[in-house]
Amino acid sequence: MSNKSIRIHLECKECGKPKFVDVNTFGFLRWQQGMLIQRALPELSTDDRELLISRICPECWTKLFPPDKEEEDDGTWIDPAGGVHTGDDDDPAKMYE
Ligand SMILES: [Zn+2]
Repeated sequence: MSNKSIRIHLECKECGKPKFVDVNTFGFLRWQQGMLIQRALPELSTDDRELLISRICPECWTKLFPPDKEEEDDGTWIDPAGGVHTGDDDDPAKMYE
């Protein structure tokens, strides 16, 4: 039953503000040993995880990657001829068969 936690002090590499994250000691060590942070420290918020992984605080993270920009995983792809398609279009592989 290891529920001890340690406080990790970090400095945001974007704004330089001192930040800290309280983490479970055991989970933190497991993460340091290579375990996925989502598994080693499942209780952390996404913000805290990003702070530990990339050393960017939530405020800077939002500035760098505004959440309203939906660029990821919307199924958009560009074919070799330069056409832009959405995920609803036919699979590109089929077009060239
Ligand atoms: Zn920052």
